[in-house]
Amino acid sequence: MLGLVEFFKSLPKKKCNKCGQDIFEKADCYGNICDECDHPAR
Ligand SMILES: [Zn+2]
Repeated sequence: MLGLVEFFKSLPKKKCNKCGQDIFEKADCYGNICDECDHPAR
């Protein structure tokens, strides 16, 4: 079973729509914005 890791690697990396930074560990809520840009204070 070597499928899982490869599967996740093959997933398209999410990028922040605003700054273009890669987004990790985020569910697909909030669209495609990183924590930095998604900060309520900004
Ligand atoms: Zn950003």
